Amino acid sequence: MLIAKSDLHSALKKNFGFNQFKGLQEDVVESILSGNHTFVIMPTGGGKSLCYQLPALMQEGTAIVVSPLIALMKNQVDAIRGISNEEGIAHVLNSSLNKTEVKRVKEDIVNGITKLLYVAPESLTKEENVEFLRSVNISFMAIDEAHCISEWGHDFRPEYRNLRQIISRIGDNIPIIGLTATATPKVQEDIIKNLGINNAKTFKASFNRPNLYYEVRPKTKNVDVDIIRFIKQNEGKSGIVYCLSRKRVEELAQVLQVNGVKAVPYHAGLDAKSRSSYQDKFLMEDVDVVVATIAFGMGIDKPDVRFVIHHDIPKSIESYYQETGRAGRDGGEGHCLAYYAYKDIEKLEKFMSGKPVAEQEIGQALLQEVIAFAETSISRRKFILHYFGEEFDNETGEGGDMDDNVRHPKNKHEAKEEVVV
Ligand code: ADP
Ligand code: MG
Repeated sequence: MLIAKSDLHSALKKNFGFNQFKGLQEDVVESILSGNHTFVIMPTGGGKSLCYQLPALMQEGTAIVVSPLIALMKNQVDAIRGISNEEGIAHVLNSSLNKTEVKRVKEDIVNGITKLLYVAPESLTKEENVEFLRSVNISFMAIDEAHCISEWGHDFRPEYRNLRQIISRIGDNIPIIGLTATATPKVQEDIIKNLGINNAKTFKASFNRPNLYYEVRPKTKNVDVDIIRFIKQNEGKSGIVYCLSRKRVEELAQVLQVNGVKAVPYHAGLDAKSRSSYQDKFLMEDVDVVVATIAFGMGIDKPDVRFVIHHDIPKSIESYYQETGRAGRDGGEGHCLAYYAYKDIEKLEKFMSGKPVAEQEIGQALLQEVIAFAETSISRRKFILHYFGEEFDNETGEGGDMDDNVRHPKNKHEAKEEVVV
């Protein structure tokens, strides 16, 4: 499908109300409209959904979107319906629908009304769904959160491994679009291999976050005092403090409160009501700081988070990047401060010890990178971007001096002493 640039822009404006494409979106949309297998790697918030939504709306037939989370699918369907006055334009097909609802979905697809059909991978394995989808006009298949296909990703889902086979059964020449915010070369290889899209046009956005300042401090028994001091120096600013365990979250939130910091705890062990009330307080700025486990953050979109503190070092560079990435979304300052002690690595190892051997091996390899990151004396930004397969020159690159190692280089003598201690 050949489309003039001006038509793409008017379709963008008409369907989404945006005046400009963000980053590589326009190139991706063109690639999809040309019928290519396409692979999109963009950081969270980069605007991946629009990359498949727009071409789906512009083409004949129905695009199938595979996504791992029902809540995410529902959000997207509501958003698409909101911009169109045709409710059938987007549907979710999952096991919670009753017979009448399924009938309606199928009718809308057959009648060419539905442009986007969201499905969980489990629903795609159902024979009757495959049979049905074989019989209708499919524009392309988009696999969102495609890292779920890889054991090296942070959210492996075995059902994702069957996708290639199912797609082949649905149709011979269906273009496949993979999208992910996971930038590690290993995960990318896995995605391409598993989806069988060697010839995919690949679009990779930079993962550099020039406004984030990265700092690692040695973790001593005075870590709480150090955190309090840091927060006091940043009074009135919003921040997140990540801890490994729920117990530590509760304790530290209390310590902060006692010391006059407006802080709340957040972890999956709290009841839903408290969780949503604490989250609202943070968004409304009734409190400044959320002390949380990694349960906090998914889908939290507070643009002016000014610092992210890791009381405990995360289990992978990937997690570290995702979690620190919640700072400075508005482009303003974002201070990322992690505390590191080798003892914490041993704790993380202990966590893994009950898991299958293959998983442990992967976990170990990821941890080695975390150790290397914490102990490195080179630019932390360079380290992170290198991990994601991106070359970065901190002499010339944006944000090149925004980390402790570049601002305050350790001389060799000092560095040595630290290792001995
Ligand atoms: P991702 O899936 O890559 O994390 P999303 O698709 O959820 O990102 O998009 C992130 C945000 O960017 C959304 O709020 C979306 O509305 C916005 N967005 C996407 N494309 C554009 C654009 N061209 N102009 C302005 N905002 C955009
Ligand atoms: Mg997304």
